[in-house]
Amino acid sequence: MINNTPRVRFAPSPTGYLHVGGLRTALYNYLFAKNKGGKFILRIEDTDQNRFVEGAAEQLVETLNWIGLNYDEGPNKEGEYGPYFQSKRLDIYKKYSNQLMDEGKAYKCFCTAERLKELREEQQKQKLPQAKYDKHCLNLSPEEIDANIKAGKSYVVRLNVKPGDKVKFSDVVRKDVEFDRETIDDQILIKSDGFPTYHLANVVDDHLMKITHVIRGEEWLSSTPKHVLLYEYLGWELPVFAHLPLLLNENKSKLSKRQGDVAVEDYKDKGYLQEALINFVALLGWSAGDNVEFYKSEDLINKFSLERVQKSGAVFNVEKLNWLNGEHIRSKPNQDILEMLKNELADSKFANKDFSDDFLIKVIEAMKERISFVSDFLTRSNYFFEEPQSYDEKVVAKRWKPDSYEHMKKLAEEFETLKNPTKDDFEAALRKAAEDIGVGAGKMIHPVRLAVSGIGVGPGVFDLLYILGKEKVISRINTAINKIKID
Ligand code: GLU
Repeated sequence: MINNTPRVRFAPSPTGYLHVGGLRTALYNYLFAKNKGGKFILRIEDTDQNRFVEGAAEQLVETLNWIGLNYDEGPNKEGEYGPYFQSKRLDIYKKYSNQLMDEGKAYKCFCTAERLKELREEQQKQKLPQAKYDKHCLNLSPEEIDANIKAGKSYVVRLNVKPGDKVKFSDVVRKDVEFDRETIDDQILIKSDGFPTYHLANVVDDHLMKITHVIRGEEWLSSTPKHVLLYEYLGWELPVFAHLPLLLNENKSKLSKRQGDVAVEDYKDKGYLQEALINFVALLGWSAGDNVEFYKSEDLINKFSLERVQKSGAVFNVEKLNWLNGEHIRSKPNQDILEMLKNELADSKFANKDFSDDFLIKVIEAMKERISFVSDFLTRSNYFFEEPQSYDEKVVAKRWKPDSYEHMKKLAEEFETLKNPTKDDFEAALRKAAEDIGVGAGKMIHPVRLAVSGIGVGPGVFDLLYILGKEKVISRINTAINKIKID
């Protein structure tokens, strides 16, 4: 290892949002660094001028901050190895490309797009396994090169890949990997606009920033032999590589926008907790081997290791994410859930209604086992915040019988006699009313739930009655008697 303190980096090309795959890469780098007492670095790879998106880097930093992946070095947190924007390091890349050219390991190429196209077509005709540059410009004399430059011809700088042994590297996840050197193209290092390609900038920066472990998505695996050659040509020690498995949709296709959200920002807007997303994303390709699914961030830091990252693709299962979101909400003290619920109410149609903390805590206790999102308190049990707006027709058909009108009338009368009823008082009163009429308690329980909530599911019916309180319960029963019509 180059250095005793592990140094890892998340090196996104900012696109305007953070892809969940990017989050997974950032998270594994972060967990690895924290587990090992190392440093987590954010480097913005913004050398592709065609893909420039205004404000994208700021957006990315904001999302990383929200999710809690605080970096040790990066934008606005300059360390020894900055700047951390590649667009501010152009001279550095030029220096190394010149060095490679001086040593005959790289050369200027003036080939036009047209010539390259013809070359590709020719190679396709010959059924070559892959298109490769034919080193045409390697043979230009210094005079020809000068003349081309004087004539204002644009050029790129290419790596001069020479014949040799297989290019080998070891990867923590994929073990020993090798590529035939012959298959590696004379890749472009500096583009005609003077900007470096990903390959050159990435390798130079990983070296200069003393990155010890390159942890990134599997889609970069095919670039790695090119990088390994660059390390070799520059005489630098290789970092440790770890390529993370692909993220897949449920149908095992590559995770795509078409099948659901891929932007972390969308998940945030939908009310997913930062802790739940971290927990979920951590399990996309890694497990501690202990069959545990619920983790807080500290536990992830303690348990994480690259050795337990799997090779096969990881399926993105939104239902599991929803379940984890509920679990993380439930793991919080009621007081914290109360704050979240109040924020949710403040943003809802109930904003100008007043609910006491005491009442809301009761709602939380009754409902928290049944929710995945804080907003579920409002949508699944809106009856705590407003009268039923309608009565579920299926439940009416099943539960409201011709004699329910009379049963409910009797029940309301019984409830009238109660003073500050507890849950048990409501239960006793209901059982007494049922007994007086000579019917089973079920004949009252289902209709009264429907009457006070408008639906057929929810917390225990006596909890429901108790939380709503005598006054609302009686008034809602009377409303239901008037409103519910059956044939
Ligand atoms: N800029 C590359 C990306 O957008 C970095 C890949 C790597 O980590 O080497 O993901």
